[in-house]
Amino acid sequence: MATELIDARTDAPHAHASSRRARVLPGAVALMSVVVFLVAVPFAKIPLAQVPAFIPVYESALVLNDLITAMLLFGQSVIARSRALGALASGYLYTSAMALLHMLSFPGLFSPTGLLNAGPQSTAWIYMFWHAGFPIFVIAYALLKDSKEARMTGKSVAASTLALTVGAVLGLAAAMVALATAGESLLPHIMQNHHYAPAMQWVAGSTWGLCLLALVVLYRQKSRSTIDLWLMVVLCAWICDVALSAVFNEGRYDLGFYVGRIYGMCATSFVLLLLLVENTFLHSRLAAALDELKRLATTDPLTGVANRRAFEAALTAHWQRALHDRSTLSLLMIDIDFFKLFNDRYGHVEGDRCLVLVAECLARAVRRGSDLVARYGGEEFVVLLPDTNAASAAHVARRMCDAVTALCIPNEGSPSFRKITISVGVASRVIDAGAETTVLTRAADHALYLAKAAGRGRVEQAAHAERQQDA
Ligand code: GH3
Ligand code: MG
Ligand code: MG
Repeated sequence: MATELIDARTDAPHAHASSRRARVLPGAVALMSVVVFLVAVPFAKIPLAQVPAFIPVYESALVLNDLITAMLLFGQSVIARSRALGALASGYLYTSAMALLHMLSFPGLFSPTGLLNAGPQSTAWIYMFWHAGFPIFVIAYALLKDSKEARMTGKSVAASTLALTVGAVLGLAAAMVALATAGESLLPHIMQNHHYAPAMQWVAGSTWGLCLLALVVLYRQKSRSTIDLWLMVVLCAWICDVALSAVFNEGRYDLGFYVGRIYGMCATSFVLLLLLVENTFLHSRLAAALDELKRLATTDPLTGVANRRAFEAALTAHWQRALHDRSTLSLLMIDIDFFKLFNDRYGHVEGDRCLVLVAECLARAVRRGSDLVARYGGEEFVVLLPDTNAASAAHVARRMCDAVTALCIPNEGSPSFRKITISVGVASRVIDAGAETTVLTRAADHALYLAKAAGRGRVEQAAHAERQQDA
């Protein structure tokens, strides 16, 4: 599942489709981001209305988006046993936690100076740590992906490892926020009221540089997957976000501040949308694969009729139904006559062809949808006829006998007929409690034995068989 996500160049049809999308769509989105950025830069310093509600609205969405992305990626990393995806998932968990803490510390939202004991510099520093952290996780992802150890072979990821990773990421976010709040005095001043201090240029420049570095590392990978291309778009958007809301603008609530954050919002959605689209495709492919698996598990590969496993399941199901309805269940046991001689004379390939022709002929001879023709084994077939009495079952059996004879498949070795014929044993029973399904199979088998003994190419019924046995 995640394999395709990591490598868009696999031969799977969906991966191929996504790789075509992967080239066009991310390119277009990245180009659009740059265009919007260039248009917005000259107006970045224009002050706009102070809408403090904007922060919690946009950051709540951000927290949830990143958290869902992180959870999906952690899931993928466990399935694919990929440490690289684990690193990326950690990056999204980190941004989710930092966005939440940023929101809590933002002045004027939950308290006039912000929660978490935030000082005047704290929120801006949390923003910087948040935006500088993500590209570092992306770089780790890209390096791990290219390394030989990217995939752990054999061993699955232990729940404790996952818990430890989550704990470490949350711990890191907490440490960064502690540094920005309790350790605020240790950090250079980057805010003066709602405006940026000169040091901000350096800090934002470094964050910018990290995003750029991550972009280069992703670009220089040996093979790029769909997710890599979208990550590059995310980083482009982040570069625009940081540039507009921390470099080219003047402070909070100007055009650069708002547009930059909207960029951040878009960026966070790209990978999540990709994961959701991938998941939908994978679900549909899984459903199709499951259907095919079921078909393979219940079909005889040579003749195309049901196999013995399907027959046993159908017998149990119809037995229960017949028990409930007190209806009659009939079973035909069919064996091709002198088939060994056919094989000996015409060879096994012709023998197989004959088996296919007989199976098709038997399948054509049943009329009701609930009737089931199955290959019981070798050159033996069974036919299950629910809600069918002995007389009707014998009628179907004779029709099958005649139809196979009418195929006129030569069998020169057959001493009696010189062509392919079948013998059929019929057993019918009103199903009552206490009896076992094998009763019917055994009775039909015994009737078949009698049909063989009586000269082959004929139908014998179990009741007759029992009378003969008694005699
Ligand atoms: P009878 O009339 O008593 O049933 O004689 P028979 O020769 O049909 O019976 P027997 O059970 O001795 O032989 C069954 C033969 O069916 C043996 C085997 O070579 C052949 N057979 C079983 N499965 C296959 C198969 O999948 N393909 C082919 N070509 N032959 C098969
Ligand atoms: Mg046989
Ligand atoms: Mg036979």
